[in-house]
Amino acid sequence: MTQTRTEVAIIGGGVMGSSIAYHLARRGVEVTLLERGDIPCAASAASAGGVRQQGRDLRELPLAVASIARWEHLEEELGADIHYRREGHVTVTENPDDVADFLPWMENQRQLGLEIDLVEGDDLRELIPGIGPQVRAGAYSPSDGHANPILTTQAFAEAAKRFGANIRSHTSVTAIEHEGGNVTGVVTDDGQIACDMVVLAAGAWSMELAASLGVTLPAVARAPQMIATTPMPALLHQVVGARGRMLSLKQVPSGNYVIGGGWPGTVHLDRRIALPWYGSVRGSMTDSSAIFPELLKARVERVWVGIEAQTVDEVPILGPLPGISGLTVATGFSGHGFALSPIIGQVMSELIIDSKPSIEISQLGFARFEGMEMPEEWRELRAG
Ligand SMILES: Cc1cc2nc3c(=O)[nH]c(=O)nc-3n(C[C@H](O)[C@H](O)[C@H](O)COP(=O)(O)OP(=O)(O)OC[C@H]3O[C@@H](n4cnc5c(N)ncnc54)[C@H](O)[C@@H]3O)c2cc1C
Repeated sequence: MTQTRTEVAIIGGGVMGSSIAYHLARRGVEVTLLERGDIPCAASAASAGGVRQQGRDLRELPLAVASIARWEHLEEELGADIHYRREGHVTVTENPDDVADFLPWMENQRQLGLEIDLVEGDDLRELIPGIGPQVRAGAYSPSDGHANPILTTQAFAEAAKRFGANIRSHTSVTAIEHEGGNVTGVVTDDGQIACDMVVLAAGAWSMELAASLGVTLPAVARAPQMIATTPMPALLHQVVGARGRMLSLKQVPSGNYVIGGGWPGTVHLDRRIALPWYGSVRGSMTDSSAIFPELLKARVERVWVGIEAQTVDEVPILGPLPGISGLTVATGFSGHGFALSPIIGQVMSELIIDSKPSIEISQLGFARFEGMEMPEEWRELRAG
């Protein structure tokens, strides 16, 4: 242990911590990224890698739209192949009654800058050859896509390092220190580091670190499950979701279909593991092959589960936490943070350096929970 001081200490080397480290370092801030495992090892290693604006909460959509503008040039900017493909996202429906619902739903998103159109009949089948015959229509956003989350996280961390960030994997933060209401440092299993500011980007473990400072983050750990099939001939270009089914389906450059959509595994947060659940594998294969029958020919190659913090309103918590000056948080991405990672790094760095992000994020701040009545079901979840 040699280092004893830094300007900003970031807890968590997932895609968010790594992106924040990169954006701070490139503007000359002295930054130390502390990750207790490999970079990445938790949600960002398990992620399906969807880079989607469509279907987002309207409080989050402006960030998603701005993020897509960054994705377009991210490989060049980071100097890395992160397998980014921009071939669209289609949310399909099998129910003719849904088609009318799509129109105002799409219009709300269009108002916030998303290019999105209805595709039906032959146009839909031309767009997605192999889509199930019962599928009636789809909402198509051509600028959505997907990328490789492991390569992206590593590319952010490597680029941060090139700008002088101190990247310390296999270093666990055991406490956040403060004095007189101000953050003063972090304690790690490799010694103490004094700092002016701490960014809490510890994913599903952010809640326990915040709790140690007396702050209750209204989030729980969830474990979405993923399936990859063996490689098959290239057929599907878009990411496909479906109304009324738990589905997120894509075919990655290696030919494997990657299937998710929120099917749950089981979480063991203290041991930092999550295990697949057979019922979810079966459910996920049933839903995906109903929408895309080609999958009836597929064999499952791998099943995995990742642990992610999900907030009560399923959008992230960004910005300062109450009570302690110098402590800021970026967590609770609720299963859809990967696509936001370039813009989260940007706005968090602007918040820290300029005190004001270039895109409004106050609607995603901790203050929104003040006075919020937690649903009964949620209270039970938190009680464990
Ligand atoms: C299965 C799955 C599929 C997903 N699919 C998509 C998708 O298609 N599109 C999309 O946009 N999003 C998706 N997401 C969500 C997205 O992957 C996450 O929102 C994003 O990866 C969160 O990044 P993070 O950095 O906040 O968290 P993480 O990647 O979990 O990183 C937090 C890090 O903090 C570290 N840490 C915790 N405590 C400490 C400590 N005390 N000291 C040091 N380090 C600590 C952990 O080891 C961990 O590496 C998916 C998530 C999952 C789980």
